[in-house]
Amino acid sequence: MYDWLIVGAGFAGSVLAERLARERGERILVVDRRDHIGGNAYDCLNADGLLIHRYGPHIFHTNAQAVFAYLSDFTAWRPYEHRVLAEVNGQRVPIPINLDTINRLYGLSLTSPELEAWFAARAEPVEEIRTAEDVVVSTVGRELYELFFRDYTRKQWGRDPSELDRSVTARVPTRTDRDDRYFTDRYQAMPKHGYTAMFAAMLDHPNITLALGTDFRSLGPTARARRTIFTGPIETYFDTCYGPLPYRSLRFEHVTRDVAWHQPVGVVNYPQTEAYTRVTEYKHLTGQTHPRTALTYEYPSAEGEPYYPIPCAAHQALYKRYEQRARDERNVWFVGRLATYRYYNMDQIVGQALATFRRIDAEIPRRDGRVRAPAVDRTTSELA
Ligand code: FAD
Ligand code: UDP
Repeated sequence: MYDWLIVGAGFAGSVLAERLARERGERILVVDRRDHIGGNAYDCLNADGLLIHRYGPHIFHTNAQAVFAYLSDFTAWRPYEHRVLAEVNGQRVPIPINLDTINRLYGLSLTSPELEAWFAARAEPVEEIRTAEDVVVSTVGRELYELFFRDYTRKQWGRDPSELDRSVTARVPTRTDRDDRYFTDRYQAMPKHGYTAMFAAMLDHPNITLALGTDFRSLGPTARARRTIFTGPIETYFDTCYGPLPYRSLRFEHVTRDVAWHQPVGVVNYPQTEAYTRVTEYKHLTGQTHPRTALTYEYPSAEGEPYYPIPCAAHQALYKRYEQRARDERNVWFVGRLATYRYYNMDQIVGQALATFRRIDAEIPRRDGRVRAPAVDRTTSELA
């Protein structure tokens, strides 16, 4: 018998397995229906020996010192600042939109203060910024919204930005300076030997047993544990009793090209043309030296693995019904992007898992009978 059954070996499941085993000396069974650890952050060498991310590009960035320090126990880092170009009207220009984007696209030579005025002259007044459309048109106006955001979003999500929560496009800022980094977080780096190696180090503990290729629904009584941590889609735990929660999926086309480099930056976005949204060239991210290069093309799709919870009010209301049921479920904790139906980045999931561990550790006496005083929740406040 185990103390804990953890469903899912992604960030949420692996962080909690590591904490419970190492800090509390408890015995853990981690199951994943996939044949590997790491969840969607899994990386591996392809047939040509190039390191790729099986489920699309994963770039680590965070402002949370506690999250970065925690992961640093399991990996060294390679500094990496992500840059993205968008192919618009036949030109490749920086996204997030910045001073160079506008000057190149319109053949101008504006300064930063002039660009502020230029945006202000185009921005549409929006009384209450509610949708993914509102966020952009109220900042840069309709023309840039249509060039960079409207069709990319329709392609990625299969719906118009006006039907999505503002948080979706608010992920991408607008700048009036020449900063062309995709993220401005304090910590930006890639695990030096890849994500999978980092997960292997987290799960390398005598109290942790891994059962890959195992769906939790197929588990017999021998795998039963006193307590469960569930990181799969929340509705599947409850047999989808209130109806399906909508997700957006992707089809990944992984290819190797017989050239050293394919594109000047890690990712090129295609807001206007192509059936795919973006192309990733991994060598920029990983720093690998290799005579050939590996790329991933992302084709959005309604069918397939649930990669993205779709943020909008109706889906949130349905999720709340499942969340209420989850609250009534004794000895089960729901953690992670799918189990809390949140469009969260990796660092936010690590923060959520560490906060869950602190709650568990404050509530449930340790083997030696000690109850830990609740810790100040620094990780969560740093990520807010
Ligand atoms: P997951 O990684 O999804 O792990 C859940 C695991 O549970 C899965 O392995 C699944 O197989 C398993 N599972 C589900 N149901 C069952 C079951 N019934 N039985 C057994 N096992 C089950 N974040 C960033 O910070 N930076 C990025 O650049 C970035 N890029 C991304 C790109 C794409 C295309 C996607 C889809 C996501 C990206 N993310 C990125 C987000 C990141 O993937 C997530 O925040 C993180 O991986 C979530 O971890 P998790 O443990 O909650 O979920
Ligand atoms: N987006 C867009 N055009 C772009 C980049 C992003 O319209 O060139 C919108 C789109 O709706 C996307 C969202 O902004 O889904 C968030 O972008 P991000 O790059 O953070 O997406 P992720 O990496 O999570 O897929």
